[in-house]
Amino acid sequence: MGHPEDAPSGSVWEQDLPTLRPIIDAGLALDTTLGVAGLPQSGTGQSCWLTGQNAVRLMGKGGAGEHFGPHPGPTLQALLRESALPVRLKQAGLSAALLNFYPPGYFAAHAKRPRYGCFPFSFLAAGLALNPLDLPSISPTLGLRYGSPWAATQTLSELAYMGEQVARAAQHRDLLVLDLWLSDLLGHEGKPDAPPELGAAGRRYMQHLDAFLGGVLGAGGRAVISSDHGNFEDLRIKSHTTARVPFAGSGVDLGRPHDIVQAGAVMAGWFGLLERTHS
Ligand SMILES: [Zn+2]
Repeated sequence: MGHPEDAPSGSVWEQDLPTLRPIIDAGLALDTTLGVAGLPQSGTGQSCWLTGQNAVRLMGKGGAGEHFGPHPGPTLQALLRESALPVRLKQAGLSAALLNFYPPGYFAAHAKRPRYGCFPFSFLAAGLALNPLDLPSISPTLGLRYGSPWAATQTLSELAYMGEQVARAAQHRDLLVLDLWLSDLLGHEGKPDAPPELGAAGRRYMQHLDAFLGGVLGAGGRAVISSDHGNFEDLRIKSHTTARVPFAGSGVDLGRPHDIVQAGAVMAGWFGLLERTHS
């Protein structure tokens, strides 16, 4: 999800988002290209966030660098096993959990062919279960149906309540993570003559995120929000973009990073994990 400053006019950012937008505007806009040609991808982008290391430079022939994804291959998997934030938090005796709800079909598919995204891969690598039983379980569609026209199945007040539950659960944990991928799926539906329901669904997803975040912050939670790459901010095209991404939060010190690698290191620093990320 690209930053509003890099979004075309008419984007999903252009609506009233009373909690989300002030936080985004007070935050930073980060480079995701890392000086490597091509469009940023989820495998490398998320690995940068999770490790604070330049995962893009690890890829490609002869150190040329390459944006790679969506799923991490052997090189990125090795990096994540060694250095992903959940792994390091666990080693440091701190607690982390991924709140995404994964349906039974997800586990059935991965039993046949493991092909985890970077976030579930990293939590599993840390020895942490998906669908943790003692925490709120959040659908990453945030109360929208999975397919077109992505109708709402939950109200804004229900999403706010979920946010409150997450904030309460966070009082007893060091880090709770939500991997929100519906924005990328919607972004890949983009085209010059995209149907109006796509834009409507995109705006609705942002409203649901706004309500959820409002619940988190209203209940005293601290939160940080970002993205691995641009895409969803430009629904005129189906591809990822080189737009800068937000790095924003409430109750956290964002520091002065310029790209997603530096910001990954900032986040690790919040937990006193500075040395490993600078190695
Ligand atoms: Zn994508």
